[in-house]
Amino acid sequence: MEVADGVSVADVASRIGSRLAQAAVAARLNGKLVDLAAVLGPDGPQAIEILTDKSDEALSIMRHSAAHVMAAAVRRLYGEGVKFGIGPAIEDGFYYDFDLPERIAEEDLERIEAEMARIVGEKAPFERQDVSHEEAVSIMQAAGQDYKVELLRGIAGGGAAEGEQLHDAEAKPQSRGAVSLYRSADFVDLCRGPHVPHAGKIPAVKLLSVAGSYWRGDSTRPMLQRIYGTAFFSKQALQEHLRRLDEAKKRDHRRIGRDLDLFSFHVEGPGFAFMHARGMVILNEILAYWRRVHHEAGYEEIRTPTILSEALWHRSGHWDNYREAMYFTEIDEAAYAVKPMNCPGGLLVYQNRPHSYRDLPMRVAELGLVHRHEKSGVLHGLMRVRQFTQDDAHIYCLPEQVQEEVVGVIRLVDAIYRTFGFEDVRVELSTRPEHSIGTDEMWEHATGALRGALDASGLEYVVNEGEGAFYAPKIDYHIRDCLGRSWQCGTIQVDLAMPERFDLTYVGPDNAEHRPAMIHRAILGSIERFLGILIEHYGGDFPLWLTPVQMAVLPVSDRFNAYGAKVLETLDTAGLRAELDDASDKVSAKIRRATLRRIPYMLVVGEREQEVGTVSVRDKALGDLGAESVDGFAARATDEIREKRLRPTAQGPA
Ligand SMILES: [Zn+2]
Ligand SMILES: [Zn+2]
Repeated sequence: MEVADGVSVADVASRIGSRLAQAAVAARLNGKLVDLAAVLGPDGPQAIEILTDKSDEALSIMRHSAAHVMAAAVRRLYGEGVKFGIGPAIEDGFYYDFDLPERIAEEDLERIEAEMARIVGEKAPFERQDVSHEEAVSIMQAAGQDYKVELLRGIAGGGAAEGEQLHDAEAKPQSRGAVSLYRSADFVDLCRGPHVPHAGKIPAVKLLSVAGSYWRGDSTRPMLQRIYGTAFFSKQALQEHLRRLDEAKKRDHRRIGRDLDLFSFHVEGPGFAFMHARGMVILNEILAYWRRVHHEAGYEEIRTPTILSEALWHRSGHWDNYREAMYFTEIDEAAYAVKPMNCPGGLLVYQNRPHSYRDLPMRVAELGLVHRHEKSGVLHGLMRVRQFTQDDAHIYCLPEQVQEEVVGVIRLVDAIYRTFGFEDVRVELSTRPEHSIGTDEMWEHATGALRGALDASGLEYVVNEGEGAFYAPKIDYHIRDCLGRSWQCGTIQVDLAMPERFDLTYVGPDNAEHRPAMIHRAILGSIERFLGILIEHYGGDFPLWLTPVQMAVLPVSDRFNAYGAKVLETLDTAGLRAELDDASDKVSAKIRRATLRRIPYMLVVGEREQEVGTVSVRDKALGDLGAESVDGFAARATDEIREKRLRPTAQGPA
């Protein structure tokens, strides 16, 4: 399209069509996200992409605009004295941090939402103004916006604000000379933009919660009030999201973990999970299965120490690259570290004796307990902890065996995820990053082997160019749970550093020493975190093989307790985890109790059952299944366990 000077992106959109102009939210101009009001450059061909409400980038821009509208609403309601922190779009929504004397309560969110609706109704325009840095400072100073002034000082100082990981538009430094301000509904913000043209483009908003948040995440700085919200391009999409949030809350593993007495956390060990007896039943079942399939796949298992000398971590490179996340200690006045990874210990085992090419491949697994220092702010139940068990393994092989070994790992990953009911798996291949060690040849060989293994396995995957570790290309697995959330679990890496650093060798057919290839792999990732994912995926209704209490025997009255005890003994002998509820409550109360405890099978026994030696089976998900002989039921349950069948309720919301 030929256009005259001074034409805006919005003009271009209208020339293409009025429908497009209507649907336009923002644009990408020569690779940069811009407002619709942005004017095309003075000369030469220009690339424009109009972003409509179908695009994820537009969604994020709209949510960022919603954060501004929320700030404008808070300012209208709470007055000029409100000081503003930052307000970015985040995954699934947005937030804004406020400093004001009143405490904002959850009940106030409705009032703020109503004020936002007014601004949306007014279709308040977003107006961009480019000013000099000094001008921006004086505007913010005059408005008493200390935090904004601080951000500007960071910008002037060459971007001190940049280190803040937030995906926020505000804190990222703009070019030193010019600073952009956005004004909407009398609220002026320091902001890179872009924004929707006017607040009317924010059709569906919901404020969700309010929480304390230190300015710049620094506990020595003031505590601000952060309001979280979300926004969508349609009311329907918002409703669907809220329904998912509600479902996620019901499935929150911390809540179910407490209700089912699986684990707990204590101030005496922040980020360290205390696993209770019932939680251990689940973990041990997972591990027994894990050990069996690994044994079948030709793995052997080792265990290496938790505390190892600091010198080892210098040698492995962890000291240089991972020190921040490690714990240190001292033994007999010598320096030691608590292991954050299992590899160095495993390497010492490999080195313990010479190896022949005939020994390879060696598949050496370790369920290694590792400690990593996570910041207290990011700890989250079992999902983010400071101590966890990695289902690690290292494969040492001939360079020409790498591809075949990776194929074997892929097969194992697939089988394990399927067993737990994760069918929707995303696979990513990450290639050599800019800063890396090793030669071109090593990288080509290692990356080629991973790619070859993926292709041979017929897996679909995306390639993340340059996203590999500095020492290894890798395959990552993301599993999607029943709420559509994605979790990174498995990883397969071909290590180009450790064999060198630890001078690993094997003796080849030529009787000379050679360097073996080394593959790191984990499938579940952290066992504790995987338990958390499983709890939420199943919503607490575990498959029978994992359920701590698989069945409860419920006598209809005290008279049948003796028969109940006999049934219990039969189940016990069959290796089933059963309990007898011989309290003197009504059977309806016992059923309610067993249901709350998520016990899959309830076996009601009374006069008739005792007479003919049966149980009346009630499935938590399917309801009454009728009478069955005790042996018949035990055999059926044993089959369900052996086949690791998923429970009927485990599919999640439709
Ligand atoms: Zn902004
Ligand atoms: Zn490793």
